[in-house]
Parts: sequence; C-alpha cells; structure tokens
Amino acid sequence: MDATTPGCDRWSVTRTIEADYVVIGAGAAGMAFVDALTDHADVRVALVDRRHSVGGHWLEAYPFVRLHQASAFYGVASTVLGGAIQQEGPEKGLHERASQPEICDYYEHVLRRMVSSGRVELLGSSEYVGDRTVVSHLSGERLTVPAGCRIVDARYLAPVIPAETPPPFAVAADAHVVPVNDLVRLDEAPREYVVVGSGKTATDAIVFLLTRGVDPDAICWVRPRDPWMLSRAVVQPDPAVFLGMAADIMRSASDATSLDDLFLRMEAAGIMIRIDPRVTPTMAKAPTLATWELDLLRTVENVVRRGHLESVDRGKLGFADGSVSIADKAVVVHCAGDGLRLRPPIPVWGPEAITLQPIRSGFPCFGAALVGYVEATRSDDAEKNRLCPSSPYGNSLADWARMTVLGTRAAQSFSAEPDIKAWADRVAINPARVPPDYGPSDALDGVLERLAAHTPAGLARLSSLM
Ligand SMILES: Cc1cc2nc3c(=O)[nH]c(=O)nc-3n(C[C@H](O)[C@H](O)[C@H](O)COP(=O)(O)OP(=O)(O)OC[C@H]3O[C@@H](n4cnc5c(N)ncnc54)[C@H](O)[C@@H]3O)c2cc1C
Repeated sequence: MDATTPGCDRWSVTRTIEADYVVIGAGAAGMAFVDALTDHADVRVALVDRRHSVGGHWLEAYPFVRLHQASAFYGVASTVLGGAIQQEGPEKGLHERASQPEICDYYEHVLRRMVSSGRVELLGSSEYVGDRTVVSHLSGERLTVPAGCRIVDARYLAPVIPAETPPPFAVAADAHVVPVNDLVRLDEAPREYVVVGSGKTATDAIVFLLTRGVDPDAICWVRPRDPWMLSRAVVQPDPAVFLGMAADIMRSASDATSLDDLFLRMEAAGIMIRIDPRVTPTMAKAPTLATWELDLLRTVENVVRRGHLESVDRGKLGFADGSVSIADKAVVVHCAGDGLRLRPPIPVWGPEAITLQPIRSGFPCFGAALVGYVEATRSDDAEKNRLCPSSPYGNSLADWARMTVLGTRAAQSFSAEPDIKAWADRVAINPARVPPDYGPSDALDGVLERLAAHTPAGLARLSSLM
C-alpha cells in the first residue's frame, strides 16, 4: 500500500489498496473463498472485516456452541478441521464437532498460513462503507479499492445472532431478558428459565441448561414454530452414509403427495426428526440434531405455542392473542435471532461484486471454496455463473424443497466439468464427495445405484412441491 494523501488529519488520509481482490467479510465464507482462490491463482487479496480478526460470527458466539455438523464439512479446502471420530460420549461413533475456541483457533492458523504466503493481508477492524471505500475503525484511515480490483461480498448471507441483535419483542424495564451468551454469566439460579426461539440456538441453550442440572420443569420454551431437524447420524463424512441419505431423500420425494407427506416420509426413513411427534412442523432450516439431544429436549413439557412473542414484562409474556404467566424473576433467554440470513439467491458473479452463496445446498463453506476455485480457473463470468448457480437457505418446508432442487441441479452442473469434479472429490468440505482413496465398496455401489435411480423422479416431484 502507498500513502497518497499524507497529513496530520488521519480521517482524510487515503491510500489505495494494492490487491487483485478485496474480500468484504473474513468469516467462514470469505476465508474459504480466499483459500481456494490463492491456492489456484497467483493473486493478491485484501481481506476486510469490521471485526478485529478472522472467524466471523464465531468470535461473538455463545461459549457453549459447537458446529452442528461434522467439523470436516466446515472451514477451508486446504486444511481439514478436525476429522476424528468421537470415541466416547453420547455421540460415540459420529464425527467430531468443533467448539467455538477450536473454530477460532483454526481460522487464526489458516490466516497465518495465508499471510505468510505474502499474497494475503488482513485489514481488521475496518469497514467497507460502499463506493469502493474501506475505513479503519481504529486509525480512521480511508482506503480506496482501485479500478480493476474485484470486490467479493462475503457477508451477503452472514448470520444474524442474538449477541448482536436486540430481541424482536418489547422488554419492560423490570424484566430480566438476556442474550443466550449471558447464560454462562448468571450469578444466581432463577426459579424459571424462559427460552425464546425455535432454532438451533434455542435447542443449544436448553441442552446446555439440562446438562448442567436444571430441572426440565424449570424451563418454559416459547416455540413459535416447530422445526424439522436432520438426524446427525446420516449427515456424516462417509460417502455411503451421506449419499445414502441423499438417495433416501430422492426416494421419499418421488413418492410424496405433499410437503408434509415428504417430511413424514423422510422421518420414517430416519433422515428428519421433530421434537414433538404430535405436532406437524412448519419450519425447515434443518440443522442437525443427535438422538441424545432430542431425548433431552423432549423432557421440557412447558412449551408455549402462541406465535411470536411480542413483549416481556415482569412475570408475564405477551402474545397477539393474550398473555402467559411466568415466574416473577424468570430469566428470559433471547435465542430469537434469524440465524441463517434469508435472502434471495442472486448470480454469484455480478457486475459490481462476486457475491458468495451456497452452491450445493446448505454448505456455505464448500460453496465459497468452489467459487474461489472456479474464479481461479476460468475467465468468463457468464460461464462461471452457468457452472455455479447459487442456492438459498431454507426456512419453510417449500424453501427446503427449493434449496434441495437448486442445490442438486447446481451439483450436476459443476460436477460435469472433470477438473472441478476432481478438485471437489479431494476436499473434505464437500459433503457429497467420494474421496479418490475410497476403496471398492459394495455398500457405496448400492447407494450410487439408488441415487441414480431415484434422482430424476425425486427432483421432478420436489420441483412441483416447491
Ligand atoms: C450458531 C451457528 C452455528 C452454525 N453451525 C454451522 C455448521 O455446523 N455448519 C455449517 O455449514 N454452517 C453452520 N452455520 C451457518 C453459518 O451460516 C455459517 O457459519 C456461515 O458460513 C457463516 O459465515 P459467513 O462468512 O457467511 O458469515 P460471518 O461469519 O458472519 O462473516 C461475515 C463477516 O463479514 C463482516 N462484515 C459484514 N459487513 C461488513 C462490512 N461492511 N465491512 C467489513 N466487514 C463486514 C462481519 O464482521 C463478519 O465477520 C452456523 C451458524 C450459526 C449462527
């Protein structure tokens, strides 16, 4: 970088970033893109993040969080995160899942390797403010992105987390509402915990409380919607298991008469699970859940299904259709962030920016790495968009069907290119890969036959259901 406007007023100092790419966001998506790009092209990259370092939302996550999927599916293509099989505990036999400190350490390690290449620099505590301008929060320095340098938007689908988002309900001055992160900082055990949210953060909070000895009857769960979740046992880094699940999804879809029927068929096939078998879920963000967690969650019987919580007063929860009493000094735990950000899929390669999104459904790290590889190895943006159409995250059952259709079609598209297929089969973050060293396997052969047989009818039916 060179200083072009030196002076004593730091706010007016403007430097030009010397790079071929400026990547906005140093979370999982930005890191996976930069790693794959710089491994396959001799380019310079400036990584910009308003946070002080790399790792994105994990730097602010609640301390008891873990990846909900196997570690091996997460991170960057060049460096496997974890990879071991759990030898003890309730998930014995399943692949390990990294904790928050392990994920943050991993990204620091990857960053050091990138920086030591001399081709990547991190501009931490720096905000991209639009108009090809980056401003440092610490020095006030303004940096410009030169013409010809490509901007990569690695924050389009950045998650919304409770630690950084006010509760989406009114809170009276004398009510005790805490973000999920503060559960580890309570001084005194309350008579009642009220956990607000239907997603992974809420289930993590409840599992945390129950495994620390809290009585299930001391928990009230405000669950506006019931979620479908994926059984963790079938989302594992073993092609016979993962592709077996994909084949069962396609078989379930080809026979389904409605979206509800599809999910019930997937439940019968051991793919989807729900917390309360008496309730038909309407939400399908579909994080993975293990059986031991499901057993714990089912012990909480005080579930409030009154739609979205509108207000919290001391001793009272307010809903559109009335109120529900809670303990006088209940601790209300805010787990009601959106988590996955729901935005429409847009072309990855646009005139203004490369916008990172999942390509194969539901796997943001693999999607960002794939975009990095394709960017490094191809020059025509229209062709890159043809090979890598984006797919959205799910929310409703119809969204899930759409995500599955678009993600499957995208996988068919990029896998038709021999070099992309060969690269994708080598990287652990690709959940559907068959590694080159995977020996002959009758089980896998059977799975691949089933997958090929059911996919055409399954995709056609999913398309009509979505
Ligand atoms: C609790 C939780 C658990 C999850 N577990 C998994 C899992 O097991 N497996 C999985 O595949 N996915 C998981 N996800 C899904 C999640 O979408 C992924 O972690 C995802 O890859 C997030 O990475 P990201 O880079 O998109 O967003 P982030 O990590 O949020 O990174 C985006 C970055 O952009 C920066 N930024 C935004 N705007 C600007 C700006 N104007 N200027 C500078 N910087 C900016 C932000 O500071 C941030 O650091 C989980 C999500 C949550 C919330």
